[in-house]
Amino acid sequence: MKLPFFLARKFVAAETVENTLPVAANLRASGLSTTLDLLGEYISDPKLATRAKESYISLVKAIDSSEGTIDKNISIKLSMLGQKIDESFCLDNLHEVLTVAKETNTFVRLDMEGTDVTGSTVSIFERVHPDYPENVGIVLQAYLKRTAEDVAHMCELGARVRLCKGAYKEPAKLAYQDMPTIRDRYLEYMEKLITTGRYPGIATHDDLLIAATKEFVGSNKIPSDRFEFQMLFGIRTETQQSIAAEGYGMRVYVPFGDMWYPYFSRRLRERKENVWFVLANMFKK
Ligand SMILES: Cc1cc2nc3c(=O)[nH]c(=O)nc-3n(C[C@H](O)[C@H](O)[C@H](O)COP(=O)(O)OP(=O)(O)OC[C@H]3O[C@@H](n4cnc5c(N)ncnc54)[C@H](O)[C@@H]3O)c2cc1C
Repeated sequence: MKLPFFLARKFVAAETVENTLPVAANLRASGLSTTLDLLGEYISDPKLATRAKESYISLVKAIDSSEGTIDKNISIKLSMLGQKIDESFCLDNLHEVLTVAKETNTFVRLDMEGTDVTGSTVSIFERVHPDYPENVGIVLQAYLKRTAEDVAHMCELGARVRLCKGAYKEPAKLAYQDMPTIRDRYLEYMEKLITTGRYPGIATHDDLLIAATKEFVGSNKIPSDRFEFQMLFGIRTETQQSIAAEGYGMRVYVPFGDMWYPYFSRRLRERKENVWFVLANMFKK
């Protein structure tokens, strides 16, 4: 059974590319940067992975034709490109997407998914990064115990990293479970990425982490163009605007498409107030 889209519209821009592009253009016109994410994950049929690759390429071309009204920046999931079917098939698909990204000067962020694919995502990233250093970046999750090493390695490579807490349910063997530890790790990696990494994305809605980042760059006299903040579409929209008004880069992650349910359920799990918001909307309808 497919749930009606209005339930997700707080967090998901639209179900089609056509309806998403104006949303992205409006965000840009209001002073925010964007990254567009065609929703979907964990594809197990090669035909669907090929279709996803074609959709990503069409998206890059559609943004390129927007005559500068939309940021040339997308986020993709390798599990959409067949990562769980066959890594080399996924790598070939990714090369095709990145070839068009390079031709059009578009940046492609590889979202990070569950720990079943962390090693594979890092390894695929390492294989494509030398050919597309300006066009591809990765995400690292502060809750994973392996991330200290990944942060150090990505700084050595000069790779662009988005730092987030991590959104998947992971076992204690692999991931810190308590928020104080996750925040401590996040702050440690934020400092390392801002000082020795390349234009990191500080992706969080957490006031404590945002304030600590501002304090760190302020007291170390680090210019605000060395990094950017990132937040999700529909979450803390006033804060997004006020951070941009303070002169920091603020990029909004704009998810769209009809495969929105897994993304939507992660947002509900993160914050119980979001469940109430959705329920209130159900009754308004
Ligand atoms: C741009 C972006 C990209 C991401 N990409 C990935 C990815 O590739 N892989 C992945 O695993 N995860 C990704 N995430 C999700 C991330 O890992 C976290 O699950 C998610 O951001 C929640 O953590 P948080 O730090 O934002 O704040 P939370 O831990 O959810 O909240 C911390 C505090 O922030 C404040 N807050 C949060 N939401 C609101 C709200 N709606 N209104 C008011 N206050 C609020 C509250 O004070 C709250 O206590 C991404 C997140 C962002 C922002």
